[in-house]
Amino acid sequence: MKPDVVKNPVASLKAKNADVQCVIDAVAGNQEFFKNALPMIASENITSPLVRQVLASDLGHRYAEGKVGHRFYQGCGFIDVIEAKAIELAKEVFRAPHVNVQPISGVNSNIAAFFALSRPGDVMLALAVPSGGHISHARYSAAGIRGLKIYAHPYDNSKMNIDTDKMLKEIKRLKPKIVMFGASLFLFPHPVREAREACDEVGASIVYDAAHVAGLIAGGRFQDPLREGADVVTASTHKTFPGPQGGIIMCQEKWAEEIDEAVFPGTVSNFHPHHKAGLAIALAEMKHFGRAYADQTIRNAQALASYLDEMGFSVLCKDQGYTMSHQVAVDVSRIGGGSLVAANLEKAYIIANKNLFPWDAEAGKDDPSGIRLGTQELTRLGMKEREMKEVARLIKRVAIDREEPEKVKKDVIHLKSQYQTVQYCFDGDGAYEFILR
Ligand SMILES: *Cc1c(COP(=O)(O)O)cnc(C)c1O
Repeated sequence: MKPDVVKNPVASLKAKNADVQCVIDAVAGNQEFFKNALPMIASENITSPLVRQVLASDLGHRYAEGKVGHRFYQGCGFIDVIEAKAIELAKEVFRAPHVNVQPISGVNSNIAAFFALSRPGDVMLALAVPSGGHISHARYSAAGIRGLKIYAHPYDNSKMNIDTDKMLKEIKRLKPKIVMFGASLFLFPHPVREAREACDEVGASIVYDAAHVAGLIAGGRFQDPLREGADVVTASTHKTFPGPQGGIIMCQEKWAEEIDEAVFPGTVSNFHPHHKAGLAIALAEMKHFGRAYADQTIRNAQALASYLDEMGFSVLCKDQGYTMSHQVAVDVSRIGGGSLVAANLEKAYIIANKNLFPWDAEAGKDDPSGIRLGTQELTRLGMKEREMKEVARLIKRVAIDREEPEKVKKDVIHLKSQYQTVQYCFDGDGAYEFILR
């Protein structure tokens, strides 16, 4: 979609240079667009105004290679305080024996975990991308950089989950070095507990990629991989976990040294200290509000799924209650396909993504059958089950009734105008205000 031209709404953001003005206008346009839109990309979230403020601080200019108290450069005293606090809070919030907050993204966290736990040529069992696996688990990406040989978890399409019995057989047959769990299309908890004994038998480590569900785990509302037998948990800090864009690794004490060395000097130099200050604040928010936020996010996903089902959509996994996470998967293959539906929704200012389902790859289909909807960001903005009904109706008007998206957009903007503050934080005012002057 070509974005609407937005008159720069912030008078103070006037540049003396046309190139700079172009960028500032796009920044302002994006701000205005998301202020008016329903953001439902399952991998995104909105941070509190306080988090955004520290992201804009001087910390973003600094280097602090090394560990707390043992830096390679001078001038890191305050960064020590911040990183130590982030580690302390993350240990508490994730109930983790050891934490490293330095990875700068989820993929970076995975690469570090692969470096810590495997050698080139080792075997890894992980979900294939069409089954919801992330590209960084694939041989053409991060896992390939480590030289891992990848085999796909057996997948049960009807349950949208790993087939546990077949997985146990594969673990015994392949004797992998790493068994990977976690996914990008992630409706139900993975069989971590079930895999532990077989992994012990063959000497495999379990890595759980919590990129999508870290906020739900922190809130105690999804599975608890560290208690279920995971050796290492990697995550992004900006999907259901409502922090700045970044990464984090939690692990059992026995892997602490390997993980720390795989992060630095292994795969990270500058760890973007401003993002870690934001992470520490987001962790404090989750310590206080995480349970309520995770709870409402999942309730909202379940409510949205059942309203969409009632309104005539084909929502996956009805027999299992649709979802136990923040995600809802809808098969739109009979109403135009994922590409068309997602594009029309965008014209109505409802932002979601087309999504491949496992059977698409089997059928050699290019246009994904589905769309994936996430409720975490709308939840952060204060929406509850009642609003999910409204949202479902708006989606129906675009995707089933084929109403002019421009018309639906007006009602989207009206609904959104009532949700302009971030909840589950200490300073929720002005979700879409510029903080720079
Ligand atoms: C998003 C995602 C990642 C990548 O995280 P980034 O922070 O974007 O690098 C890794 N694993 C899974 C399962 C994801 O969904």
